[in-house]
Amino acid sequence: MAETTFNYPDTQLLIDGHWRAGIQGKTIAVVDPATEETIGTVAHATREDLDAALAAAARGFGIWSAISAFDRYKIMRKAAALLNERCDRIAWVMTREQGKPLAEALSEVVAASAIIEWFAEEARRTYGQIVPARSSAVTQLVLKAPVGPVAAFTPWNFPINQIVRKLSAALAAGCSIIIKAPEETPASPAELIRAFVDAGVPAGVINLVYGIPAEISEHLIPHPVIRKISFTGSTPVGKHLAALAGQYMKRATMELGGHAPAIVFDDADISRAVKVLAASKFRNAGQVCVSPTRFLIQDGVFDQFLHSFTQTAKAIRVGSGLDEGTDMGPLANERRIPALENLIGDAVSRGAKLLTGGRRIGNKGYFFEPTVLAKVPLDARIMNEEPFGPVAIVNPFSSIDGVIAEANRLPFGLASYAFTGSLAVAHQLGVRIEAGMTTINHNGLALPEVPFGGVKDSGYGSEGGSEAIEAYLVTKLVTQMN
Ligand code: NAD
Repeated sequence: MAETTFNYPDTQLLIDGHWRAGIQGKTIAVVDPATEETIGTVAHATREDLDAALAAAARGFGIWSAISAFDRYKIMRKAAALLNERCDRIAWVMTREQGKPLAEALSEVVAASAIIEWFAEEARRTYGQIVPARSSAVTQLVLKAPVGPVAAFTPWNFPINQIVRKLSAALAAGCSIIIKAPEETPASPAELIRAFVDAGVPAGVINLVYGIPAEISEHLIPHPVIRKISFTGSTPVGKHLAALAGQYMKRATMELGGHAPAIVFDDADISRAVKVLAASKFRNAGQVCVSPTRFLIQDGVFDQFLHSFTQTAKAIRVGSGLDEGTDMGPLANERRIPALENLIGDAVSRGAKLLTGGRRIGNKGYFFEPTVLAKVPLDARIMNEEPFGPVAIVNPFSSIDGVIAEANRLPFGLASYAFTGSLAVAHQLGVRIEAGMTTINHNGLALPEVPFGGVKDSGYGSEGGSEAIEAYLVTKLVTQMN
């Protein structure tokens, strides 16, 4: 394990500008997924803490929405700079609690800083319109106003990235926010928030809570203070929360599960396809909503691709994220191990070929082998459920119509990948694949300036690009006779 001078901190709630324990003093243990040791605790919010956070968010909204967009921009840019300055320590904290290799954690922190900068700049571009009136005595103004206090719910796979898009868009628009961050990976999110506090975001504007997810969402979403919710996580939970939001007429953004097709045509650059897709598949041990899952390979290059991809998977060095030379860390939590074993076992029992992997590694730490399954029948569960782990399914296809039908077969529609030497084929894929994002001949997803989001059961709304801030703004008409 790398020598370090850092310590893993206990995590507190942030309510109305105070870092503090929950009123009832409850805590939840935090476990290092590489060693299974308890490394710290996180404060557990109960109903009274949530009510304090709601009151703070209501006050914070009044304060923050009255600050000019230019001043919000300046404070947010300072937060981005502080996060960058602190990136080494925060990355180390993230690796301890989440497991991903240090280099991945570091790039997540640095990318978060870039996301804050992007949204800070967007704050200055929340333009309205003047609509020509039917009478010269009338002026018609269309204004953009912040929607109000936001409740955000985020998962453990990208502890900072999943928060920073919601938080930055909300702050840029002039909203306050209550974030229910992941209990399994609590400390790196708290360090993200600390950068904003230290940059000068006033008390009450950002509130951070942890606890029992269902209890928190059931209390916050219906509450009249909250005007907008944003959730990242699984499709079943997203549907439940979207229904609750609908019942209480709250705006919602839903970034949910995926089952990305990765299509490789005979005329593609196969070595590039293997390199890009293996890096995307095994990043964060496959616990990524946009991870490529169904590898659909044209007949003429199927054997070549499968061989080369399997060799690449076998060469991946699995170990502690703190060890130099580790390519892939452990799974972030124990429950993914039986979930993956069951999906793989089911596929093999239905005739799939297991080319490599398929099992847990050792019995300490949640390490799992990079896994390649081939020729998996459509009725296998893994062809229909998101594996959310380091498992690639490699199946052959013959025609473009057939592969597009397979790509669109599932209710998911988040990311999709394709490799082809034909511009005409690339164009058809871009138009016909039912996904929020299609990346062709490279991996170009998730930059701050491009849209990020899904269609169908993968959710709605975008967390990137120029439309992302719209989710936190309402449109108001002011029509005035002179
Ligand atoms: P899960 O469905 O239990 O939880 C997913 C996330 O939702 C967690 O962060 C959890 O705290 C939160 N959550 C659960 N119930 C909630 C509720 N009632 N109110 C508010 N938040 C709630 O699944 P899990 O075991 O943590 O993860 C496994 C599955 O979740 C994966 O298979 C994957 O489909 C999905 N997931 C998706 C993403 C993503 O980036 N889209 C991230 C993490 C997990």
